[in-house]
Amino acid sequence: MKWSKSHIYTLRESPTDADIPSQALMVRAGMIRKVAPGIYTYGNLALRAIRKFEALVRQELDKRGCVEILMPMVHPRSLWEETGRWTEMGERLLKFKNRSGHDFCLGATHEEVVTDYARRDISSYRDLPKNLYQIQTKYRDEIRPRFGLMRGREFIMKDAYSFDLDQASAQHSYQLMYDAYKAIYERLGLKFVIVQADTGNIGGSQSHEFQVLAENGEDALMVCEAAGYAANIEIAPVGDVTQVGAAALVAMTEFATPGLRTIADLAKATNVAENELVKTMFFSASDDPKLSRPVAVLLRGDHEVNPVKLKNLLGLANPPLMLTDIEVKAATGAAPGSCGPVGLKIPIYMDQGVQHLKNYIVGANKDDFHLKGVNHGRDFQVTQTADLRLAREGDHCPIGKGGVYKLHRGIEVGHVFYLGTKYSKKMNVTYLDKNSQSNWVEMGCYGIGISRTVQAAIEQSHDKDGIIWPLAIAPFAVHFCLLDPDHPELSAYAEKLYQELMGAGVEVLMDDRAERPGIKFKDADLLGMPLRITLGKKGFESGMVEVVVRKSKEQLKVAAPEAFAFVKNWLMQASR
Ligand code: ATP
Ligand code: MG
Repeated sequence: MKWSKSHIYTLRESPTDADIPSQALMVRAGMIRKVAPGIYTYGNLALRAIRKFEALVRQELDKRGCVEILMPMVHPRSLWEETGRWTEMGERLLKFKNRSGHDFCLGATHEEVVTDYARRDISSYRDLPKNLYQIQTKYRDEIRPRFGLMRGREFIMKDAYSFDLDQASAQHSYQLMYDAYKAIYERLGLKFVIVQADTGNIGGSQSHEFQVLAENGEDALMVCEAAGYAANIEIAPVGDVTQVGAAALVAMTEFATPGLRTIADLAKATNVAENELVKTMFFSASDDPKLSRPVAVLLRGDHEVNPVKLKNLLGLANPPLMLTDIEVKAATGAAPGSCGPVGLKIPIYMDQGVQHLKNYIVGANKDDFHLKGVNHGRDFQVTQTADLRLAREGDHCPIGKGGVYKLHRGIEVGHVFYLGTKYSKKMNVTYLDKNSQSNWVEMGCYGIGISRTVQAAIEQSHDKDGIIWPLAIAPFAVHFCLLDPDHPELSAYAEKLYQELMGAGVEVLMDDRAERPGIKFKDADLLGMPLRITLGKKGFESGMVEVVVRKSKEQLKVAAPEAFAFVKNWLMQASR
């Protein structure tokens, strides 16, 4: 493609509303333009990278027997009512009515539609297994769309769904997709980790996320090298030491703590370290925001609650909401900051990190008072003790022996999920086995954020000058800077080389604009194609073409007649 005929408009300055480098670079490179929060037009360069990534994904799925279909973006309410997710998905689902007053939503995910599609045709064991996938636009009404394509409202996803006879076969399908995703991200050449992820409350289910490593990633990942184990912090189990100290129990006494609201205040005033204090937090164990079911959670003063662990312990669909100050007062008789477990009439869940503490301090459920010398079992009863806290770097990993966690940050680009019979039971998808017995179909679902991955590649691979595209998804393999387009012989030679490369299937962006070399080089660095060819009067007269490798900035002089072969070879080597 010739720049003069393209629609590429680069910006010298970073946009003021960009929060991370990849977002700023995509805007500066003219790859994306915001239409509304979380909604973008993809320019030609972004679309080329997206299409390349889609092609790579298709290759890996098709060769594993997955079947591509395309489902609608507009879904009738009735399907989402069958699974209960019309309500459960909450505000993330964008709902609307058509002219006849019927309810619809935009597809945020396609379990309902694909399950409905499958149940119309699958009837016998002979129809299974199946894996259906699509590459399509999704809409999720995210509360806070941000970071460009990373968390959009409208974005492109590849979603696949497997249908199997039984658990063993479903496990096989899961592994197949796990392997496909691994191959996809290896081919992209990005650094990534595969982590265990939250499975919600579906018994026996499995889930892994594919995380591209990046400092600005939204997800915190706990990696234990000793155990070869990695998990999203949302579920990373903690191996807290639970040895109970030998100290004798002392009597519980009340003392005044005027104005002391936080653990830090209390630690300072009492001279007790935060890790020996106990804090009490309050949540509603209900998915319905209108129906408050207060519960208390006890944690060591220096620990943070893990909302996903708590959600799973309480059997909820979504992480529980914290009680408001008014609700806390109603449940305890005191304002937050003076509350504790003694005398409470609501369930008390204790993090295992509190188990070894004795004679500790908690709020007295009386404003501006605390209790000291408090002990669980004697002064209050615990409903359940569990691992409820967020893991931290350096924490003991309970998987394997003796390892500790290292913290990494990642961008979730893919997710594989074993669903079991959750959807087939709700939507009545059965098949007849060899003995004409009816069975539920086993399912799995598998997503790849196509648009998110393209930006994640930039987030992981850029420098101060711009993007450094992995060859596998680079919009063009070669950026050809033609420095003196008015020179007739030179431009005739350049055109020949351009045509030759294109004829050999090499995608070339030729900068044929009447711009200064400095501007062309700056733009080439910004757009980040793997290889740059430069041809100007000086080089032409001495019969040399300059080739620059974007990643290493290595500069090579190649004799003009060898330029074509050199570029072809370099690209062939690089794509291995
Ligand atoms: P997140 O936790 O980031 O909100 P999710 O776990 O809800 O994502 P999934 O339902 O697992 O997302 O969707 C499959 C894939 O789609 C994700 O792994 C991610 O790559 C991509 N994706 C999800 N939400 C968005 C979004 N708002 N913008 C861009 N890509 C997204
Ligand atoms: Mg996910």
